Amino acid sequence: MNESKLRFRPADRMTALPKQFFASLVQKANAAVAAGRDVINLGQGNPDRPTPDNVVRALREAADNPQFHRYPPFSGFSFLKEAVAKRYKEDYGVTVDPQTQVAVLFGGKTGLVEISQIMLNPGDVCLVPDPGYPDYWSGVALAGGRMSFMPLTEANGYLPDYGAVPAQDLAKAKLMFFNYPNNPTSAVAPASFYKDTVEFAAKHGILAVSDFAYGAIGFDGNRPISFLETPGAMDVGIEIYTLSKTYNMAGWRVAFAIGNEEIIRLINLMQDHYYVSLFGAVQYAAAEALTGPQDSVRQLVATYESRRDALFDALADIGWRAPKPAGSFFCWLPVPGGYTSATFADKLLAEADVVVAPGIGFGDHGDGYVRVGLLSSEERLREAAARIGRLGLF
Ligand code: PLP
Repeated sequence: MNESKLRFRPADRMTALPKQFFASLVQKANAAVAAGRDVINLGQGNPDRPTPDNVVRALREAADNPQFHRYPPFSGFSFLKEAVAKRYKEDYGVTVDPQTQVAVLFGGKTGLVEISQIMLNPGDVCLVPDPGYPDYWSGVALAGGRMSFMPLTEANGYLPDYGAVPAQDLAKAKLMFFNYPNNPTSAVAPASFYKDTVEFAAKHGILAVSDFAYGAIGFDGNRPISFLETPGAMDVGIEIYTLSKTYNMAGWRVAFAIGNEEIIRLINLMQDHYYVSLFGAVQYAAAEALTGPQDSVRQLVATYESRRDALFDALADIGWRAPKPAGSFFCWLPVPGGYTSATFADKLLAEADVVVAPGIGFGDHGDGYVRVGLLSSEERLREAAARIGRLGLF
């Protein structure tokens, strides 16, 4: 609709919201599917496998329990926060007080957007990775904050260079995001990066937010490190952990903020004004995911790893070379000469019926790359590579 014809005058923050870059690509892909084309969509990040049976059974059982038909406690059930603490202890050796150091979130996205509103006044600066997950931008825009981009490049191992943050941005910075295993670049962070981050955040009084959405997905026998394993991390930051990827629960909307008590208190305070926590039966099933058998997680990682290997064998056959991802379920692949990430993605859709996410959608430094998800069967991934190979671009 033409905005000048709008009958209502929405708040300025609605126009400040970043454009949804991928919306037009999704439209084009949908149009191709509607036209009957056999499209292989590798552009999205929506896990394709079902939630483990034990979790679904727990939801069914809990849905029958009248206890969960009532309002849940405002900041979530204690049993769920205790389940989070147990998982962090077992997986990372990190001791967390479930009552004061865990907040229940409606998915990681919600927490990532809330935290900017909690921390930033108009004009305050947030340090964000470029390329990075676009939801960071949304929260900063809603808060009227300003972003200072930290380039992630192949040369720096896709880790931010804190020494390169402009002094005037540093002076106003109150918040920063980082995300390993990384979307979109698939890089994982070494312990030394987290140690540097604690020092940097403490020195400049910046809240450090580790977005650990792909925390469970590390390949070749390497388990990604949690930021909270780093001495001092709880003093300077929080980690956002979602069940969406670890347990294929993207549709359930369950995640947690874990870490600094003062920030957890502020998140709960903010949420007291927005929500009355998640449906109790979903909390019950989420606790089952965290405390029940974890074999499904190991199987999931093995599935992504063998898809990765199948895809990279097929990419080698067509001459498309890139380092294999160390974690996450994404591959970060360079675009051939003569194309931008957007023109290349358009060409793949138009001529190979393959959808990939153009790197520019994640920030200016993403423009030499496209992101490919490992969320289709090995057969479909091979087929996608073969179709791209037939274009003769490599
Ligand atoms: N952070 C990153 C880097 C992601 O890729 C995603 C989902 O795609 C999320 C956070 C949020 O996931 P959710 O809102 O499902 O917890």
